[in-house]
Amino acid sequence: MDKPAVNAQGDDKIEEWAFSDFQIGKRLGDGKFGKVYLAREKVSGYIIALKVIYLEKLEKYQHHSHLYQEILIQSSLAHPNVLRLYTWFRNETAIYLVLEYAAGGELYKVLKNHGHFSEKQSATYIASLVNALMYLHRNNVIHRDIKPENLLLDLDGVLKIADFGWAVKSNEKRYTVCGTIDYLAPEMVEKREHDHAVDNWTLGILCYEFLYGVPPFEDESQRHTYQRIKKVDLKFPETPFVSDDAKDLICKILVKDSSKRLSLLKILEHPWIVKNSDPIGYVANDPMDYSK
Ligand code: AMP
Repeated sequence: MDKPAVNAQGDDKIEEWAFSDFQIGKRLGDGKFGKVYLAREKVSGYIIALKVIYLEKLEKYQHHSHLYQEILIQSSLAHPNVLRLYTWFRNETAIYLVLEYAAGGELYKVLKNHGHFSEKQSATYIASLVNALMYLHRNNVIHRDIKPENLLLDLDGVLKIADFGWAVKSNEKRYTVCGTIDYLAPEMVEKREHDHAVDNWTLGILCYEFLYGVPPFEDESQRHTYQRIKKVDLKFPETPFVSDDAKDLICKILVKDSSKRLSLLKILEHPWIVKNSDPIGYVANDPMDYSK
């Protein structure tokens, strides 16, 4: 979304975006640092999601540098499975992110409502994630916090990776422990160096969670979850909904040695993905019935 190069007075000064450029609609959600609203850009009528991040809260949590990193990374990305950050601006009280509107909301809520997804739906989401991660990794971006809460859906049910708060632009090994416990790779739990393979690990966790409704290493305490991740203590509950092919894929992704973990390309080529995923990115004939 570009601001016109010529302003209303006819001179060629490039204008900055301002809050007054948008008509504000309903609140879409609340985050740690502010609120997200549905909004319409007044001149073009373009519908967007406006994320308002209050400076007071940013200062309280010392989160400035993280946010600028997030803005820098997300605004440089353009992929159908990555939520677009069109532009941003600030005033005395807040920073405003002009984001692509994801009308389908959080994947997390859809999963909670349905308990689990069908193999067709799960494989389609995993294939969409692989495509997005291939694009990110090609651009030297590691997301490091892929989880259902950070995945949004558009009106057609196409998956979009959002929230680049933990992402880094790097082709070198990293050490910071980040992300959410259930989704952490063993090398992160053990505070060893890590690279883009931590995102691949998360695909195995998500694939399991989509099919069974819970992440594989969830346990009564953080300590137990850490131990189970370190041992790759993987158990498959008895259920007729999950095929041996799906279990085979999960086992080949959730491998402790990150160099032996299935590559993104090999995940796309796996028979379960080939057989079940919809190349359009959503299950067109079955948009609401996720659990069959
Ligand atoms: P966040 O601060 O990014 O965690 O966003 C808070 C909530 O607002 C999310 O959980 C979503 O439900 C909603 N939300 C955030 N961004 C968007 C978006 N681009 N489109 C639709 N809903 C959004």
